[in-house]
Amino acid sequence: MKKKLMMIPGPTPVDQSVLDALSKDTVSHLDPELVKTLKETLNDLKAVVMTEKGQPFIIPGTGTLGMEVAIVNSLKEGDRLLVISHGFFGDRFVEIALGYGIEVEVLASEWGKIVEVEKIAQKLKEKSFSAITVTHVDTSTGVCAPLEEVAEVIKRFSETLFIVDAVCATGGIEERMDDWGVDIVFAGNQKAISVPPGLANLVFSEKALERRNALGNISSYYMDINRWLSIMREPGSGYFATHAVNMVNALHQGLKNILEEGLEKRFNRHKRFALAFHAGLEELGFKLLAPKEIRANTVSTILYPAGIEDLSFREKLYQNGVLVSAGKGVLAGKLFRLGHMGSITENEVVATMSIIEKTLSEFNYDFELGSGIGAAEEILFKE
Ligand SMILES: *Cc1c(COP(=O)(O)O)cnc(C)c1O
Repeated sequence: MKKKLMMIPGPTPVDQSVLDALSKDTVSHLDPELVKTLKETLNDLKAVVMTEKGQPFIIPGTGTLGMEVAIVNSLKEGDRLLVISHGFFGDRFVEIALGYGIEVEVLASEWGKIVEVEKIAQKLKEKSFSAITVTHVDTSTGVCAPLEEVAEVIKRFSETLFIVDAVCATGGIEERMDDWGVDIVFAGNQKAISVPPGLANLVFSEKALERRNALGNISSYYMDINRWLSIMREPGSGYFATHAVNMVNALHQGLKNILEEGLEKRFNRHKRFALAFHAGLEELGFKLLAPKEIRANTVSTILYPAGIEDLSFREKLYQNGVLVSAGKGVLAGKLFRLGHMGSITENEVVATMSIIEKTLSEFNYDFELGSGIGAAEEILFKE
């Protein structure tokens, strides 16, 4: 079977350099070379989320583990958590926290919109919360939270830890942990970082580490960051749980690739690709779920025009060479989700647009062949 373009919101295509790093020999977690690699990886993770003071943790698992690690280390039973939910992954925080007996309040937006920053401010004034979670990009709806603005509000409530789910953003969209006063930020591997899935990557602020200490004993063993702390501060200094050594090598290379490209350049590239897709698809008669101001640069939610049926479109598209994702929840059948993050290139953007046009033409859909790709190219090549 021919290789398909994976234009889904994770896992995203992985560069050969990362696959090569992944296939290095499996060595001891105490091997000097591996220890050095882990140290560099931890530092590079800090650089990507722009923190100097933060304490990084790289833990075998996935993005969901990151969510749970953030929750269990900052709240205990009976504490109050405010969840800002813009979709499926926002709602997931509620399920996790309820399992630990945490009191959860939710401010949720309609899918495709965001909770107004003013409403968040009002809620925080009304009541005191031990922590607040914000999903930077909710992968189910393709919306990007205005993190910097939200941060300005949260800064005024020093008792509230600011937790950011950045799984679908880190490495593709700017995140300034220190400047924005973020207390816990976490990413996975397989989205905009473009590394195979398998690690949860978190950074805790000093305040978040203090909060962990203030909780005393917590109801998790593996997820207790205090059990990981000495290894993360001094890799090679001992054993807590066997690290996923091959994954560490892969993430090391993935983060190096990000920093080599340069953060600003990389964020701009993501923006350019997103705008190119948006222009091209709109030209073809698709509409985007999210309004312009809150569209994510990493994933798009694209509503079908009349006459195009979800499943047969995605199946034909796949046969033609591009894999996209279905809509989630209430959006199922109405739209498809297109991932455009990580190490994808301009060639893949152009190829995807072309294959979308080919697929539409097989539906007897009325459009001018080349018009979508042309609109995308206007942005790719001229801006
Ligand atoms: C993908 C994703 C997760 C979950 O990550 P997994 O690696 O699938 O466990 C959490 N939050 C967001 C925003 C995501 O996009």
